[in-house]
Amino acid sequence: MKNHTTFKIGGNAKTVITPTSVNELVEVIKCLKNERFLVIGNGSNILAPDEGIDYFVIKTSKINSVNCDKNKICAECGATLAKIASVALENSLAGFEFASGIPGTIGGGIVMNAGAYDGELSQVVKTTLFCDRMGNVYEISGNEHKFGYRHSFFSDKDYVVLSSVIELESGIKDDISLKMKELNKRRSDKQPLNYPSAGSTFKRPEGYFAAKLIDDCGLKGASVGGAKVSEKHSGFIINSGNATANDVKQLISLCQKEVFEKFAVNIEPEIKIL
Ligand SMILES: Cc1cc2nc3c(=O)[nH]c(=O)nc-3n(C[C@H](O)[C@H](O)[C@H](O)COP(=O)(O)OP(=O)(O)OC[C@H]3O[C@@H](n4cnc5c(N)ncnc54)[C@H](O)[C@@H]3O)c2cc1C
Repeated sequence: MKNHTTFKIGGNAKTVITPTSVNELVEVIKCLKNERFLVIGNGSNILAPDEGIDYFVIKTSKINSVNCDKNKICAECGATLAKIASVALENSLAGFEFASGIPGTIGGGIVMNAGAYDGELSQVVKTTLFCDRMGNVYEISGNEHKFGYRHSFFSDKDYVVLSSVIELESGIKDDISLKMKELNKRRSDKQPLNYPSAGSTFKRPEGYFAAKLIDDCGLKGASVGGAKVSEKHSGFIINSGNATANDVKQLISLCQKEVFEKFAVNIEPEIKIL
């Protein structure tokens, strides 16, 4: 899994399967209906165990076509948010700039309603095609996505996102390009993008910022083995070199304990710990 996650951590999966089309993905799911499996996109929000996982992993990265029709973009589940942003830019469509630097796929993004800089996928996703574990295909639209903060209809369910339609507004190409550049500069100025990580380790607790709470506990730069609270952004735990999943989990527990003792605030992991 270290080769399939941005944290670069994790032992072997039973098998990693990489279907190349939505139809192939549904066929694979039908074949695996009596087996345990996990669908992943870019692995940018996942911490996989050191000892590996004894079930199948289906990686969607090869199912990535993105088509634009007027102000609508249809993206297959493995399309990266960056690719969708560049198609939006090519077609002078505004409203997706916020997502251009989030290093995940639309499938993974919809599951947790990925967002940044006041934007969230909830604002632009109109319909989603998905299937259940038997390979039966369904579609939902609008409010049926039940989007919330880092949450959606798909968060607690076993469904697989197949594709989504995103609706944007026509805009001015140069303005869209400038906004993407500005947001991505803010990202690289603030975030430790030169180290493997899974992004913000913790959800934002209501009324607080996890990074500030961690900082105020004096935990900036704290480490367990190869896992370290980033000195650039305390909301990120980074793999500073050969970190194990256990290192990361221990550091997460340390941050949670210290923050709770000092501020009586629970900080919940945003990353998916397998
Ligand atoms: C440097 C960095 C910066 C980041 N910045 C942000 C940010 O600004 N905002 C933000 O919201 N996130 C951010 N993230 C986290 C991450 O990129 C997002 O959560 C992203 O949406 C995850 O997409 P993914 O394809 O990598 O999903 P994965 O990590 O592969 O999977 C995440 C979850 O979604 C499930 N899943 C994936 N694909 C599917 C599918 N097709 N059907 C059903 N379930 C699926 C997986 O089983 C898993 O439970 C950042 C991460 C990094 C490393």
